[in-house]
Amino acid sequence: MADLLPISQLGDPIVRQKAAWVDDIHDEKIQKLIDDLIATVAQANGVGIAAPQVAEQKRLFIVASRPNPRYPNAPTMEPTAMINPRIVSHSSEIVKGWEGCLCIPGIRGLVPRYQTIEVEYYDRYGNLQKQKFHDFVARIFQHEYDHLDGIVFIDRIESTHHIITEQEYQKRVINIT
Ligand code: ZN
Repeated sequence: MADLLPISQLGDPIVRQKAAWVDDIHDEKIQKLIDDLIATVAQANGVGIAAPQVAEQKRLFIVASRPNPRYPNAPTMEPTAMINPRIVSHSSEIVKGWEGCLCIPGIRGLVPRYQTIEVEYYDRYGNLQKQKFHDFVARIFQHEYDHLDGIVFIDRIESTHHIITEQEYQKRVINIT
């Protein structure tokens, strides 16, 4: 039975700490954490969540893209746990897109990210996966990956003018993207 976990907010020092590699993916505490993260991100209308966001300093995150009130245009995929992830290579193309973060409620920022990335990670069964992600899913991966190093999206925006409130985002941006 999965539990909903409280999400740490920006200002809590844990959000800025570097996470540790996962040693034993089959550990039942890690498996339970994965189930809890999947339940928590769904309940929060997120499209991804990293373990440090729930105060677990482990290099693992969930990518769970699907349309929801916070991201109506998101593509649908199965929630996937990505453990000890690495970015192996990336495109030279950089694209800007609007991001939010469950640790930073109420604001959105226009964040530059690589358009395409090649990644490696271990899935929850301990198998090494090699995949290529584009556009929105590549964006989620890079956002969650940053959390493992204590980086949040506002660190990557180019101007404070690229920060807007959630309310204005809902009013303006969703209708034009
Ligand atoms: Zn975030």
